[in-house]
Amino acid sequence: MTTVLTYVERDGDTLAKPSRETLTFARSLAEAHGWGLDAALVGDPTEGSLADLRAQGVATVHALVHDHLDDDAAPAAVAEALVQLHTQLGPGVLVGPGTDHGAEVMAHVGARTDLPLAANCTTAAPADGGGWDLTRVRWGGVLLEDAHLEADVALLTAAPHQTAAQSAGAPGAAELSTFKPELDDALHVTRVKERATRGGGISLATAPVVISGGRGVGSAEGFGILEELAELLGGAVGCSRVATNNGWRSHNDQVGQTGTRVAPDLYVACGISGATQHWVGCMSSKKILAINTDAEAPMVTRADYAVLGDLHELLPALVEEVKARRGVG
Ligand SMILES: Cc1cc2nc3c(=O)[nH]c(=O)nc-3n(C[C@H](O)[C@H](O)[C@H](O)COP(=O)(O)OP(=O)(O)OC[C@H]3O[C@@H](n4cnc5c(N)ncnc54)[C@H](O)[C@@H]3O)c2cc1C
Repeated sequence: MTTVLTYVERDGDTLAKPSRETLTFARSLAEAHGWGLDAALVGDPTEGSLADLRAQGVATVHALVHDHLDDDAAPAAVAEALVQLHTQLGPGVLVGPGTDHGAEVMAHVGARTDLPLAANCTTAAPADGGGWDLTRVRWGGVLLEDAHLEADVALLTAAPHQTAAQSAGAPGAAELSTFKPELDDALHVTRVKERATRGGGISLATAPVVISGGRGVGSAEGFGILEELAELLGGAVGCSRVATNNGWRSHNDQVGQTGTRVAPDLYVACGISGATQHWVGCMSSKKILAINTDAEAPMVTRADYAVLGDLHELLPALVEEVKARRGVG
């Protein structure tokens, strides 16, 4: 029987949310064709992750066990382990989460097997004349593409945040099977050496208010007033790629296709034109306020509210008004 083998990642004791979404995506493919659903993860699963795997209807859980495989494992080493497991299980479908780590692992799998990898899929089905019919998220989420994958074995990543994680109608056995791959020491080179925990303050990804600045802010010092407003509103500061390229802000603050996707209650875009690559990072915000000198800027025309003017005059006035209303000195 064909098996849909799904690579999953843990988040503490449980499965990471994108991995649960990926399992739901993989299960819909398996169920539509009467195929099996297996999962593979690095190391022995915790009780919490086993419970998640059962809930997702997984039949067999393959624990990839080797000295080189732990939470800090090199993506190349994880990929080689998956290739060896996949070869042993026989041809089928291999799916991974479309996270940074998942995409890197799956890209290594593609390179090692010389198979094409289709990234960010939302649907997949075997095509009538062979190969696979797919729908993929493209351009940072602004369009969906119908694609055909010319390959016997489908290597796929599931697009993050596109399939809601849902439990299977009947739980799976999640029977544990240990797989011990043979891994060369050379695969152990690019691995996580250190993890830095975020300092105090609200995280950009979860902040209810994001005050974001772009080229119009003009300098690193110019962000001081954005910081002040963000603090008053209990929010975080974001920025465009121009701000990070100019060294005004760290890449951690960048919103967009190659930065963080945010979905706050309020996104305030100060001196940001609203290029597609930025827009895809903030378009899920409940309300967007643009502050810009250009009435034709895409951010202004797409925003819920816009104030036309110089941010260097408007933001200090806004800060003073918020302080006055709150009775802050
Ligand atoms: C592959 C790729 C990935 C990318 N990923 C990202 C990404 O993740 N995030 C991202 O942001 N960009 C990304 N970009 C870059 C993106 O295309 C734009 O170049 C960038 O977003 C523009 O930044 P900006 O809006 O700050 O600057 P600009 O486009 O130069 O816009 C500046 C805006 O400020 C306004 N302005 C100027 N002065 C003032 C003032 N005093 N008061 C008020 N308004 C003022 C102007 O009217 C203008 O609208 C990416 C590009 C590529 C090719």
